[in-house]
Amino acid sequence: MTLSIPNTIHANKQLFAAGEVALVGAGPGDPDLLTLQAFRFIKHAEIVIYDRLVSEEILALLPEGCKKVYVGKKQADHRVPQDGINQLLVDYAKQNKKVLRLKGGDPFVFGRGGEEAQFVLKHDIACHIVPGMTAASACTSYVGIPLTHRQVAQSCTFITGNVQENGKLALPWHTLTDKKQTVVFYMGIKSLPLISQQLMAAGRQGSTPAALIHKGTSPKQQVYRGTLDKLNDLVALHNIKPPTLVVIGDVINTFDEKSLANLGYLSPK
Ligand code: SAH
Repeated sequence: MTLSIPNTIHANKQLFAAGEVALVGAGPGDPDLLTLQAFRFIKHAEIVIYDRLVSEEILALLPEGCKKVYVGKKQADHRVPQDGINQLLVDYAKQNKKVLRLKGGDPFVFGRGGEEAQFVLKHDIACHIVPGMTAASACTSYVGIPLTHRQVAQSCTFITGNVQENGKLALPWHTLTDKKQTVVFYMGIKSLPLISQQLMAAGRQGSTPAALIHKGTSPKQQVYRGTLDKLNDLVALHNIKPPTLVVIGDVINTFDEKSLANLGYLSPK
């Protein structure tokens, strides 16, 4: 079966011209979660600058002959420092290439996409910004956790667990304690002992349901469910590493075991 991609609202717009940059969200892993717009940019790229969170399956969609530049991006192991990445985008655009900056999830959600776009635009280079499905949204769906649920969670907060340069995790803990609020930590695995301790000290119950989703939406997806006060045990027991999302809130128990088993069709086998 051939899949023809409809040209939606951009029917007459030239999407990617020479000497331009496209900052494209690749979603959290499953290529089926790419937007049609992301797909089109990927298909026209001449150079791709990508990081660790972009899946192999998505890289396989790049046109033959597209130059691939890996710039890392593991926590504390940035292969190319941010300034270097910014400069690469500008340098390749000035060589009149169609420069694809491919990022995991959404470029503007903990992706430093804002900084990259600022730099590119300051150099008078056109920059397309293509949203992607952010990990919090996609990974929770794949494991049957609604981020909000009537009468259970009225709000949802995405927050970074990345420890700041001074070794501290200065976060507004008192704003994360409402029982009817789902809290999702990105980059939270390393600082999880600090996160759970501070959250409970601020008043969030230790018995609050919590989940860890590792490599969500990919064939290696794993989900571990427990409670806030036992999250560290789960990490130690299963040796859980990044990329992992930490989800905290009563929504985690929305579906019982039997219903979750029937969600199987959504999950990669
Ligand atoms: N811009 C990305 C987030 C980058 S920050 C987005 O919008 O999703 C990197 C963190 O995102 C990881 O440490 C992890 O907490 C989370 N993350 C990204 N992809 C993930 C995945 N497939 N499964 C679990 N967590 C993921």
